[in-house]
Amino acid sequence: MKTSNYDFNKYRLMAPGPVQMSEGVLKALSEPMIHHRTPAFVKILNTALSGLKYVFETTNPVMILPTTGTGAMEAALVNTLSPGDHILCVAGGKFGERFEKIASAYNISTSTVDVKWGETVDAKVIDSFLASHPNTKAVTVQACETSTGVMHPIEEIAKVVKNYPNTLLIVDGITAVGATKLPMDQWSIDILLSGSQKAFQIPTGLAFISLSKKAWAFAENSTCPKFYLNLKKEMLANQQGQTHFSSSVSLIRALNVVLQEIEKQTLPAWQQRVTNLSIATQKAALALGLKLFSSSPSPTLTAIEVPQNVDGAALRKHLEEKYNITVMGGQDHLKGKIIRIGHMGDISDDDALSTIHFLALSLNELGYAIDEKVIEKATQEMKALL
Ligand SMILES: *Cc1c(COP(=O)(O)O)cnc(C)c1O
Repeated sequence: MKTSNYDFNKYRLMAPGPVQMSEGVLKALSEPMIHHRTPAFVKILNTALSGLKYVFETTNPVMILPTTGTGAMEAALVNTLSPGDHILCVAGGKFGERFEKIASAYNISTSTVDVKWGETVDAKVIDSFLASHPNTKAVTVQACETSTGVMHPIEEIAKVVKNYPNTLLIVDGITAVGATKLPMDQWSIDILLSGSQKAFQIPTGLAFISLSKKAWAFAENSTCPKFYLNLKKEMLANQQGQTHFSSSVSLIRALNVVLQEIEKQTLPAWQQRVTNLSIATQKAALALGLKLFSSSPSPTLTAIEVPQNVDGAALRKHLEEKYNITVMGGQDHLKGKIIRIGHMGDISDDDALSTIHFLALSLNELGYAIDEKVIEKATQEMKALL
């Protein structure tokens, strides 16, 4: 099962979430259960809450919700807004559109900044909208739009929204927080949220959210219905060393393994690894003669255009079945047109190199000829960047 130096006996999860997990995380997940109302768990929870503040780069409390990432998106809106409010949503992919859908479920009306899929939003467009619509209660945006692999200019957008005292900036950092620079306090992000199965390298099932002082002031006046996702109650429970409802003990223990590793390596060093993986993957894709889909690629994932005469769905299936590698395809109108490789997991150099090597072999086997020497050169160039 060996092709040159690369081995496909090992299963490689190279999707942009869920991601490959470390041995330490797997071990933590297999530990015996303890009750969450115990001094031992209070310690575990407090460790997690303080580690999250380090990764969010904030002095505000970060809360842990027992939901997927979408739960934190919903919590952001229902805890700060009221039915009848109007918000501005940046849409340029699947996840941008999700904020609009959540808002409409709560009778919050929306305007859309339509961004072409694969491109980034222009902060000036947001500025001129807010200048002419000062009653806009919030701007929602993804730091990284995972469906297209684009990184939006959050620092610039935050500089704009900061000038509007009646408007919150809500950032979905589900494929960004931890893995790439997104300092909540320094950039003045009002609500920053994330999820466990992407940049945090643990299973699906937890979401993380933090509110600025400005956002907590909005929470005082919010009348959206909420019961399970009540952040004020969550924060009060956290102050007692508890979570509002039963705690996800195993997931929080696993989270601490990752948070401690980030603290040990330091956040900038942890983020640099993700950046290196992405730059190496981008370079290798170009060296293979492929095109990148995004105009401003996120360090957390690389979206690569599938060559015209190749079926993207067949390519994914081939990589999965023959080479034991999972990558993601495109969604909606990008179905079959792109593949997306994630860089947020516990990924070794060998995993990253093997993915490109077997991607090239798969393309060859599906009729898109790439010379063996070109493949060798692409992986050598990549190696030099890791
Ligand atoms: C994955 C993802 C979500 C949705 O998270 P779930 O855990 O599936 O609810 C939302 N936003 C972005 C940017 C994502 O990548």
